[in-house]
Amino acid sequence: AAKRRGAGNVEVFDPGRTGEARARFELSVDLAKALDQDVLELHYQPIVELSTGRLLGVEALARWRHPDKGSISPEVFVSVAEQCGLACQLDRWVLQRATADLARLRTLDLVAEDVYVSVNISALHLTQGDLQAAVDEAVWMSGLPATCVALEVTETAVIGDPEEAAAILQGIVAKGFSVSLDDFGTGYSGLSRLQALPVARLKIDRRFVGNVTTEADDLAICASVVDLCRAMGVLAIAEGVETNEQLDLLQRLDCHAAQGYLWSKPLSLPDLSQVLSSSGEQFDVQAPARADTP
Ligand code: C2E
Ligand code: MG
Ligand code: MG
Ligand code: MG
Repeated sequence: AAKRRGAGNVEVFDPGRTGEARARFELSVDLAKALDQDVLELHYQPIVELSTGRLLGVEALARWRHPDKGSISPEVFVSVAEQCGLACQLDRWVLQRATADLARLRTLDLVAEDVYVSVNISALHLTQGDLQAAVDEAVWMSGLPATCVALEVTETAVIGDPEEAAAILQGIVAKGFSVSLDDFGTGYSGLSRLQALPVARLKIDRRFVGNVTTEADDLAICASVVDLCRAMGVLAIAEGVETNEQLDLLQRLDCHAAQGYLWSKPLSLPDLSQVLSSSGEQFDVQAPARADTP
């Protein structure tokens, strides 16, 4: 089992951990099978423009129902994929499925031409795999314009080799794809690093958004990220918006867009199609009037 783990991932033998290691190894075998058999699924969460309620894009989120173990969190199986050398294969599958699904929604006239699909890219893929080839292949197969595909990368993905990561992303952006920096604020890359990346959007992690109406610190963080974005010409997207109070506050901060359970959980393609055909790509961003604002 040790040999199949990713290079550079040296693990010291610890008898107390072998049970867990074995479970992860078994999971990696099942995941490889699931990828081969095409049984993973993608759900999509709408990304909503806060000034208009318009649908800007959808984030693709992988779902895996294990035959015996039930639903497994993507946080778990993505990390398994990274440890056993399946990260690039997983990303390729997600890219292909996500672009094919958006192409279908466009054919059915359920989304505007500029609506994009946002795909999470594994931290390992960025510098250890051929991401350029994977994205090229996905748009070639789906016939989608590159401008309809956004890649979500995390600070962690960039930290390992910031210069190489920036160069790879520059090449991808040059072809028309866009890049969103995911989970912003949870890593610890410096702002100078951010400046070097060709990033179009910055996603504020939901751990800050969740407490934005109750914790002064979180409000300060959200406010400064939105300001930073404005200064850098980057669009701010808040993740995990669940309440009207959060929506109202983010609108006051002039945050560009948001996603969250307030509008929709991640949906299967049929459910998303249903919502889009009944809502006309329009989401409610009118927070109920507050008592203190006439
Ligand atoms: P992420 O990319 O930051 O995705 C946002 C997570 O927040 C998703 O969890 C989403 O379901 C959840 N979320 C959205 N709105 C709300 C809300 O209002 N409240 C709450 N409590 N949660 C909300 P999910 O789908 O479990 O994914 C977790 C993480 O797993 C993702 O974080 C991403 O890092 C990773 N992931 C998911 N799908 C993929 C994939 O296809 N490829 C890769 N490489 N990573 C993925
Ligand atoms: Mg994401
Ligand atoms: Mg995120
Ligand atoms: Mg996250």
